[in-house]
Amino acid sequence: MHDGTFKFSTRAVHSGQEPCPCTGSLATPIYQTSTFVFNDADQGAARFAGEEEGYIYSRLGNPTVHSLEDKISDLEGGEAGLAFASGMAAIAAVLLALVRAGDHLVADRTIYGCTYAFLTELLTGLGVEVTLVDTTDLEEVSRALRPNTRVIYTESLANPTLKVIDLPALAQMAREKGIQTVVDNTFLSPYLLRPLEQGCDVVIHSATKYLGGHGDLIAGVAVGKKELLNRIRMTTLKNMGGVLGPFDAWLLLRGIKTLPLRMERHSLNAQQVARFLAGRCEVSRVYYPGLESHPAHELARKLYEHGFGGVVAFELKAGYEAGRALLNSVGLIRLAVSLGDVDTLIEHPASMTHHGVGEEGRRRAGISDGLVRLSVGIEDAEDIIADLGQALDKDRRQGNRKEAGFRETRKSRAESR
Ligand code: PLP
Repeated sequence: MHDGTFKFSTRAVHSGQEPCPCTGSLATPIYQTSTFVFNDADQGAARFAGEEEGYIYSRLGNPTVHSLEDKISDLEGGEAGLAFASGMAAIAAVLLALVRAGDHLVADRTIYGCTYAFLTELLTGLGVEVTLVDTTDLEEVSRALRPNTRVIYTESLANPTLKVIDLPALAQMAREKGIQTVVDNTFLSPYLLRPLEQGCDVVIHSATKYLGGHGDLIAGVAVGKKELLNRIRMTTLKNMGGVLGPFDAWLLLRGIKTLPLRMERHSLNAQQVARFLAGRCEVSRVYYPGLESHPAHELARKLYEHGFGGVVAFELKAGYEAGRALLNSVGLIRLAVSLGDVDTLIEHPASMTHHGVGEEGRRRAGISDGLVRLSVGIEDAEDIIADLGQALDKDRRQGNRKEAGFRETRKSRAESR
């Protein structure tokens, strides 16, 4: 139904979905089947030979999954989309289709922990050279490029330090050298930023996060040019087999319908939470691109539409022990990894999502031991702030008690000498 004239929220509801031609069902049916019956042997052979369109087997394609692929492709402004069993399955399938032994890949050093491990352990183990850089520093990127560089990989808003990447500048540099730019757009979603429109070649999501939005599925998607996406479908997706099941595709179709509403609320809430944290004496630093104090606030304003996303990171003056105490003191906010859910979640990257990056990797990526990551949900901002406030107050009281106890012990030791 999409003729290119509808705006984003309309397309989030309608793209990729038509009433079922057999029954009139408005909701896209869940084609919960592994295989599809051919009319006769000639039809089966024609489908395998690619001479006739139609379904064969759900690892090769499924109607519910195709609806999702069409919807996300339209929303990201691509020619084609692919769905995967997880964000990591999408990242692995895309990169393994783009590089081979002897090739070189440049990636940002501040990225999700499992992506870091995939690049630095798995890909390098297969003979691909990987150089980690800061993709906000175009001179460093340029110095890292080699004649055999095939891909530049980055996250549009980096996990977990919320570093803003100048995608148009990065993509232009890559394009001039015939290098593909692959961007993980999980933290922003296509409602806030569409990397393909900024000149990037492939956009990937952990659809587990904002696209699904309700914390009830694991999924990944990739969007780009038809020719490249077909190649990925027929090689790494089909033969490694990390496909998405029809029920999870249906949940995503449902989740994406409310993506614009949720992203606006996430962004509004996160802005208020970031301001609240910035005003607390226990907090030494708040990372949120919506704050004027963020070093790339102006760039984010230029690149992003409708808001700055729902993730806020912060550091406590009293360091990691205070961070851990805070995690143990929240009530409404749930202590859990993941992000982009309607529920507010809090986690500690150094011991959780970025534990596998190692101490040196975290130091180079700017992930301090005291950093706490908050995925701000769509509850009432006042309630989220009240929960953070009571947790910070409790920590301060405990800290004061410890300090008083310490002073008392020192005093009595001095007196007994
Ligand atoms: N990319 C980013 C930015 C993430 O935060 C995550 C997971 O947290 C992933 C990719 C991996 O996604 P999944 O857990 O769906 O495999």
